[in-house]
Amino acid sequence: MCGIVGYVGSEQAAPILLHGLSKLEYRGYDSAGMAVYDGEKIHVKKATGRLKVLSELTHDGTMLPGHVGIGHTRWATHGAPSEKNAHPHCSDDKMVVMVHNGIIENYQELKDKLLRKGYSFYSETDTEVAVKLIDYYYKKYEGTPVDAINHAMVRIRGSYALAVMFKDYPEEIYAARKDSPMIIGITHGEDGKEGAAYLASDVPAILNYTRHVYYIGNMEMARLRKGEVTFFNLDGDEIEKELTEVMEKYFKKQ
Ligand code: GLU
Repeated sequence: MCGIVGYVGSEQAAPILLHGLSKLEYRGYDSAGMAVYDGEKIHVKKATGRLKVLSELTHDGTMLPGHVGIGHTRWATHGAPSEKNAHPHCSDDKMVVMVHNGIIENYQELKDKLLRKGYSFYSETDTEVAVKLIDYYYKKYEGTPVDAINHAMVRIRGSYALAVMFKDYPEEIYAARKDSPMIIGITHGEDGKEGAAYLASDVPAILNYTRHVYYIGNMEMARLRKGEVTFFNLDGDEIEKELTEVMEKYFKKQ
């Protein structure tokens, strides 16, 4: 097991991601990484070993500017623990960038298909196959990120919690889940402050920022914007979710 964190808001994303990942360290990991979008470029940094290494490498996140980002601690299942195999992973043109917890069981079959379509691979991970499959459908159908992720979810067998950024959508993060944990948090803007949205493998990662959480179901997707989360089913239709308030027991643990 390992961890995922995501943030869309008005603050600098990287320090929030590092803080969230530190709260997920108990889940175990061998490497860590972050991708932060500054509106022009998606900056990616990865490091093997402790989260502290990634923190130092990015000067506590200050070297990765931007208000939208995803972070990951990896427990290697496909490919050795290395910087190359660490997440985030991205499409060849860096238009799609993703972190993933879980295992893609049919990754070899999907990889063979993508190789036939002209894709190449720089890592040994199942995750790189999944992000390139999403990229493939995104370009093939020229639809929305939800359409592309939907198509990929239908083809992928295995377990996943995904957080995906698309270069074409600088103010958004997309999430999908099957048999791996993930929660989504929200703050609504007030007192002149803008809202934010968060995602994480577990509640402690975002408790510093919000108590208001959605539980994303199996085979569901979400689109995160500042202070706004929309959920979708496998048909791409919007679905309603109840916002819940995190129970007191979590605060005692903090
Ligand atoms: N299967 C992926 C990998 O080996 C993700 C592992 C994880 O859940 O951290 O890179």
